[in-house]
Amino acid sequence: MLVDSHTHLYEFNPDELRSFGGIILVSVAEDVKSSETVVKLAEEYGNVTPCVGIHPWNVDKVPPSDVKLIEGMVKGGDVRCLGEVGLDLKFTPNTIDRQRRFFEEFLRMAKEYDLVLNIHSPDAWREVYDMVTRVDVDKVIFHWYTGPLDLIGDVTEQGYYISVNAALKIQEKSRRVAEVVPLRFMLTESDGPYEYRGIRLTPLMIRELVPEIAKIKGVDAATVEDSVYFNYTKLFK
Ligand SMILES: [Zn+2]
Repeated sequence: MLVDSHTHLYEFNPDELRSFGGIILVSVAEDVKSSETVVKLAEEYGNVTPCVGIHPWNVDKVPPSDVKLIEGMVKGGDVRCLGEVGLDLKFTPNTIDRQRRFFEEFLRMAKEYDLVLNIHSPDAWREVYDMVTRVDVDKVIFHWYTGPLDLIGDVTEQGYYISVNAALKIQEKSRRVAEVVPLRFMLTESDGPYEYRGIRLTPLMIRELVPEIAKIKGVDAATVEDSVYFNYTKLFK
């Protein structure tokens, strides 16, 4: 069973969604509206695992009270994941103080309700790592990790997971990350339909990503597939 541990399903059309059958799709959201859509998609499609949250890029567009609406969605117990949440010092450093306030709230929720965190942290890798370890949350995915290679050991020592993006085929940093991260802490993702350097990423690319990782690791593709699926079940079951 292939796993896409980070995708934005609400941005795909229904025909595309059907073509992703047979792949486990962990869908993040970016605001209250997309969170509601993701919850509905999870009811409709058996292969969808929902995450709800407010993207760090959106914190200046929504009132802080939206965090309470997100909390209402996880209180019921059906949604076990917050995402995409985190900090971004690369693309939106101007809102970092507000991002930190929102993220603190999501960390509190993750701890209180024992949730998985599906985390966005460009150029804030170490700060996010420090924050999640300080709150002592258990289940963390560092999505599309392209941070310092020397932080990876600390991340995996905490039992946190690192998600390698399908952009690996053209992104040298992702390749380096895949070399360093042990398979037992590795997940696979598309972040689709995000467009990276002219490539529209989709969950179907996980099919090519798994053999690429296998080549890097010197194992067969089935070993990578099984390992990622096992990691997924540890986090979400
Ligand atoms: Zn994303």
